[in-house]
Amino acid sequence: MRPTPPGAPCGGPSLNGPVEGMDHLPVFLHLRAAPAVVVGGGRVAHRKIELLLRCGAEITVISPQLCEELTSRAAAGEIRHLAEAFLPRHVDGARLAIAATDRKAVNTAVSEAARARAIPVNVVDDPALSTFIFPAIIDRSPIVVAVGSAGNAPVLTRWVREQIEALLPGTLGALARFVGERRKAVQRALLPAARRSFWERIVAGKVGSRVLRGDPDGAQRDFERELRASQLTTSGATGARALGEVYLIGAGPGDPDLLTLRALQLLQQADVVLYDRLVPEAVLERSRREARRVFVGKGAASGPRGPHTDQQRIHELMVRFAREGLKVARLKGGDPFVFGRGGEEIEVLARHGIPYVVVPGITAALGAGAAADIPLTHREMAQSLTLVTGHPLTDGALDWSALARAHQTVVFYMGVAHMEHIVSRLRAAGAPPTLPAALIEQATLPGQRTLRGTLETIAALGREAGVRPPALMLVGEVAALNAYAAAEASAAPAEQAASVAGPGE
Ligand code: SAH
Repeated sequence: MRPTPPGAPCGGPSLNGPVEGMDHLPVFLHLRAAPAVVVGGGRVAHRKIELLLRCGAEITVISPQLCEELTSRAAAGEIRHLAEAFLPRHVDGARLAIAATDRKAVNTAVSEAARARAIPVNVVDDPALSTFIFPAIIDRSPIVVAVGSAGNAPVLTRWVREQIEALLPGTLGALARFVGERRKAVQRALLPAARRSFWERIVAGKVGSRVLRGDPDGAQRDFERELRASQLTTSGATGARALGEVYLIGAGPGDPDLLTLRALQLLQQADVVLYDRLVPEAVLERSRREARRVFVGKGAASGPRGPHTDQQRIHELMVRFAREGLKVARLKGGDPFVFGRGGEEIEVLARHGIPYVVVPGITAALGAGAAADIPLTHREMAQSLTLVTGHPLTDGALDWSALARAHQTVVFYMGVAHMEHIVSRLRAAGAPPTLPAALIEQATLPGQRTLRGTLETIAALGREAGVRPPALMLVGEVAALNAYAAAEASAAPAEQAASVAGPGE
């Protein structure tokens, strides 16, 4: 690089505009084998020392007494302990000083001594005496995120940290190492212009999700394939654009907080979101703001969110967008592989050589059980759970006598229009009229309703109440369970037991 001549613009941002104030410069200090001094030997000092130990610092603790944990660290030779009162010379030669005592005079002395020697100093909970402060950290080493509010709002800082913590996969560190170990090879294999988009594809795509899932062999295989493909593309042999990919994402039953962390992560990366009728606005809002949203729902010829889209068209859109090099989120209600035609979609993607990732979602039956307080299995009442489509097209394929047996739970999807038919098939197959049943409409959504009855009453109850899709019909003894009634029923004996135990208990 040629040196910048004196006085010439260096090409950085903001030429002569006003400089926005920032109270601290966030930096990452390399402290391996560096001498660090901590004054204080209690709980707060211990917290800071654990952090410094993780960074490999050579720690000296100055304190007449040490808490139990620090005593054992000192005994193990992991830290050096001087059982003395603090003197300014204790910070001589230190690269970092921390004061964590509950005595203001001592903390002030540490601060002054360090500042006189130009040693960065932190006095715990006292920004005025500190020249640096500790951020809240999210540690996915080697990826580390630091969050700070310059001492203004520690509670807000923690909240921000929790939000980020939830978004970053726990195994992110493994991905950072995976990339680190292959950077040289990619530098040799690809031209600089191609590297960035290559790495973006690796990190956000199939390879990345394999590493995050703990499948390094699969990741390596896919990585090699991607690298070969990129070499072909960028050498001009094919002239083809980089291929995008598709994330087949289960959106869960409706409540956006029931999205999985991976669903959120991939929604944040998608360029296009193809979404179903069952995906509520609140879930769509969790996708990247700039992403293009395309309604591909089925149903009425033209609903409020757009026209009916047939399956063939959905396939075409997925393939087209991926061919344009885009990251496509195919967002489906519940789980993509439970009555979601996800199987057909991945077949199409595989046929076109388009990489895809499948993210499971909470299927409606599980959401409904939790939301309506109905356990789907139960030690005495239901030893199995069957998810069935109530769509009449499949009627002939169902084994009604198996579905009518006792001691199980059967959940019918897509059955609202055919409630009477479902009930009469079950009855004809021998299910008793007293068998409990429930209808759960809009499970986990603001309009959720639960109706309970029996095979004899449930269809009429549903019609009277005007139940509409999406709703599930749940059949089985568990549909009659009511935790509060059970608690009341057992309360009397429990009280008796308590009074027998008598005073003094
Ligand atoms: N893949 C989805 C199911 C799609 S089929 C899943 O795993 O949940 C559509 C049917 O799912 C609806 O007719 C309805 O029976 C059920 N369903 C989906 N979301 C629901 C909800 N929030 N409450 C009740 N039923 C729901």
